[in-house]
Amino acid sequence: QVDAKTASIEFKDVNFKYVNGKPIFNNLTLSIPAGKKIGIVGGSGSGKSTLVRLLFRFFEPQSGQILIAGQNIKDIQMASLRKAIAIVPQDCVLFHDTIFHNLHYGDLSKSAEDVYKASRMAELHESVTTWPKGYETQVGERGLKLSGGEKQRVAIARAILKDAPLVVFDEATSSLDSLTEHAILQALKAATVGRTSICIAHRLSTVADADQILVLENGSISETGTHREL
Ligand code: ATP
Ligand code: MG
Repeated sequence: QVDAKTASIEFKDVNFKYVNGKPIFNNLTLSIPAGKKIGIVGGSGSGKSTLVRLLFRFFEPQSGQILIAGQNIKDIQMASLRKAIAIVPQDCVLFHDTIFHNLHYGDLSKSAEDVYKASRMAELHESVTTWPKGYETQVGERGLKLSGGEKQRVAIARAILKDAPLVVFDEATSSLDSLTEHAILQALKAATVGRTSICIAHRLSTVADADQILVLENGSISETGTHREL
């Protein structure tokens, strides 16, 4: 069981490459104290999303350790590990169902009120309520019409609803207008407050409020500092 108060994250000398791929991480070492917000920036292909996949154990590093709350993630049951981390992926997958069900995600422990509350916190509610069918709108029909920013807010609302001690946000690549970006940043703040979080961003300004920002380059951390320092 991973407890919110002790949910630090550490990567120790992690080496990783995909099968038949080039090395992605060379002795990657980083440490995120419990309750802190870390921003990660780095060029396209630098391995930002790969880091998230390793944390969730979609892939195993060839060597090195990944620890959550001081425990090697290999020794944490997969179900507990995945319950402990809420991931807002770069490309959020929506099912052919209503927006309500896409947010609720089949979690029977959450009420409709919980869904609306998370949606409000994720700055999504305002948009949904302007649609003629509101939360009953089928995203199947609308799926293609959902903007990149709306999809990412669906993912943030899911993360808020999941209420996990660790939150990982992987910023969508699509360029967003400044109003949408502002809404996403607000939503993200709501999702990460009081939790250990990793915010992967394309620009430094997106993670200006992080306790620390790491620059990922050539397979390891090339620079560390606050927004002011970098
Ligand atoms: P972006 O900013 O564009 O999202 P990123 O930093 O998230 O980039 P990753 O998705 O982590 O980059 O990918 C890192 C490298 O690994 C890239 O060169 C990519 O092509 C490669 N890669 C990603 N997934 C796989 C895979 N499943 N198999 C082989 N190579 C992969
Ligand atoms: Mg990525």
